[in-house]
Amino acid sequence: MVSRVTDDYEAMVTAGCEAVCEPAFWAGFDRSGVQGFYDYFSQLTDYEPKRAAKFSLPHFSWLCINSKESEDTMLAEEVLSIIPYFLERPNVLGIGEIGLNKNTRNELKILEKHIELAAKHDQLILVHTPHLEDKLKGTRLILDAIRNDPRIKPERVIIDHVEEHTVEMVLEGGFWAGITLYPESKATPARAIDMVENCKAHNIWLNCACDWGISKPLAVPHTAIEMRRRGHSPEAIDQLIYGNPLKFLSQTPRFKLG
Ligand SMILES: [Zn+2]
Repeated sequence: MVSRVTDDYEAMVTAGCEAVCEPAFWAGFDRSGVQGFYDYFSQLTDYEPKRAAKFSLPHFSWLCINSKESEDTMLAEEVLSIIPYFLERPNVLGIGEIGLNKNTRNELKILEKHIELAAKHDQLILVHTPHLEDKLKGTRLILDAIRNDPRIKPERVIIDHVEEHTVEMVLEGGFWAGITLYPESKATPARAIDMVENCKAHNIWLNCACDWGISKPLAVPHTAIEMRRRGHSPEAIDQLIYGNPLKFLSQTPRFKLG
């Protein structure tokens, strides 16, 4: 995790985490050019797996230009052109986290180009949905954009950061739904498990925000504790926390544990 210290890796291994799956995302500032992305992708596919391996933690990553920086479409096109070079790296799971930030025309254009790239190279897709008031509209726009490409199978796409008002439309569309855990704002462990308990379909997985803001790499194991407190069986906890990500990720031959 490029934004975290080695103590975080150590804590994750101690808590029983089996792998890290890190999306390419916004660095907290806009990069000045394509070279910044080249270096970032090198870090995600070369240096960071080596750093995680020192803690016996397999490291995987997703590649893209995030929706925020996609607003600069010329830069985004340049970044899209270098991604295929990195798709051959052994720890790459697919294209992500792509999506929308403010639901702008430029963001949508670059989202469609990422979908095209994923289809052409037969890659899994990880999608970021916008936050707050942009989420519902943004999620609809994203699902439509993916459905417009018949080569993309919904079961090979995970729509992340779902909330109560978007999770059902994602699952009903045959997509996977990701609930991102945050220590304070957005989905807390209790809110996440409320959502899981209220959903009919079960293609849901949990992940944790691990960026430069306040976030907690152990949010997933902490949510397992919340499930246990509520009386969920060990099998149900294991399925949600471990079985589901394993099922989704096993769709790419690059995802191997042990
Ligand atoms: Zn995101």
